[in-house]
Amino acid sequence: MTGIHRVGNEFTAAVVRTPGSPFVLEQVRQTELLENEVLVKIVATGICHTDMIARDQDYLVPHPIVLGHEGAGVVEAVGDSVLKVTPGDHVVLTFLSCSSCRECISGHPACCENFRDRNFSGHRIDGSHALADQQGGTLNDRFFGQSSFGEYAVANEQNVVKVRKDAPLELLGPLGCGIQTGAGTVLNSLKVGPGSSFAAFGAGAVGLAAVMAASAAGATTIIAVDIVPSRLKLAMEVGATHTIDSTQGNVAEQIRAITGKGVEFSLDATGIPAVINTMIDCLRSRGEGAIIGLSKPGEKFTLDPMDLLNNCKTLRGVVEGDSLPDQFIPTMIDLYMAGRFPFDKLIKFYDFSQINQAAEDSEKGLTLKPVVRFS
Ligand code: NAD
Repeated sequence: MTGIHRVGNEFTAAVVRTPGSPFVLEQVRQTELLENEVLVKIVATGICHTDMIARDQDYLVPHPIVLGHEGAGVVEAVGDSVLKVTPGDHVVLTFLSCSSCRECISGHPACCENFRDRNFSGHRIDGSHALADQQGGTLNDRFFGQSSFGEYAVANEQNVVKVRKDAPLELLGPLGCGIQTGAGTVLNSLKVGPGSSFAAFGAGAVGLAAVMAASAAGATTIIAVDIVPSRLKLAMEVGATHTIDSTQGNVAEQIRAITGKGVEFSLDATGIPAVINTMIDCLRSRGEGAIIGLSKPGEKFTLDPMDLLNNCKTLRGVVEGDSLPDQFIPTMIDLYMAGRFPFDKLIKFYDFSQINQAAEDSEKGLTLKPVVRFS
């Protein structure tokens, strides 16, 4: 093992003891670092809706648990077999995948057949935990292979992404999930190209990342749809050419009025069935739509198969922007550093001690992308 590390390393982490209860800052203890693991001193972690639905048990994870899955920090120590990073490297943490299933080896780790086990089981694949509480009690961890709501996080070699040191590390955590999801869906999955037309339904952090990516890709008609005027205003600042307040009139008709025959590409980042239907409806012939917003568990929606068939439309679900994070996260950073992907406009920083306030502000729609900073 290289780097400063000892078993029993103690630090503060935000623990959710029971489903629906708030984050409580506790002293926790790290257990041993395995040979394929990386200990990261966290600089800042973004808060995403998936943290809240896992906190509240709308997405099943075992409690008590340390959540957090948009961490960025500095490598403190690495296990014996780790080659990708060394102590001192700047890293963004992302989702974990198994690297050996059919989807992983074909270059689609976000579709990993073992995604749930690796990211939501609350433990390593051998059943052990990287964290324990002060009394030695079990703490579930490994959330998205990191549990980065803490001063340190234990990740695996696969889900640490080395990034350039001149980029502001405290901004970069959300590139590991929410921003990667919106931008990756546009660039990797839909492959929105120069001169094309695109609509994002939901102008939260994910939808606005999609808008920015479409702009960076050279799309010339970029429509943001939301119900919050301030978000639509921000959409225009980060690359949208048009906005639609979906509380005002028929959205698909308004999109056809802008585009003539509908958009070539669209995505839904709301998870609301009626909005998904509109997202499909506004596609032109041979249009492609993506579902990326999380719906409530068990929620269903009705599809018009003849609309898909007659108009040769494609509909797909996309996880984490179908990204290869080692490649895509540095690409987003290069675009940001070149002034072509201004995702910093979405971010508001909070001190780690304000994590509950940050989560509440996000849930009330007051903050687009809260990021908790560690001193
Ligand atoms: P968010 O809540 O900030 O954004 C959702 C937006 O939808 C809000 O701006 C809201 O005002 C808008 N909205 C609500 N009702 C609407 C309506 N009727 N018409 C138009 N807009 C409406 O959330 P976010 O952080 O941007 O995340 C978006 C979704 O993506 C969440 O469901 C999140 O869990 C999910 N997500 C998915 C992945 C993935 O891999 N697929 C990864 C990260 C996040």
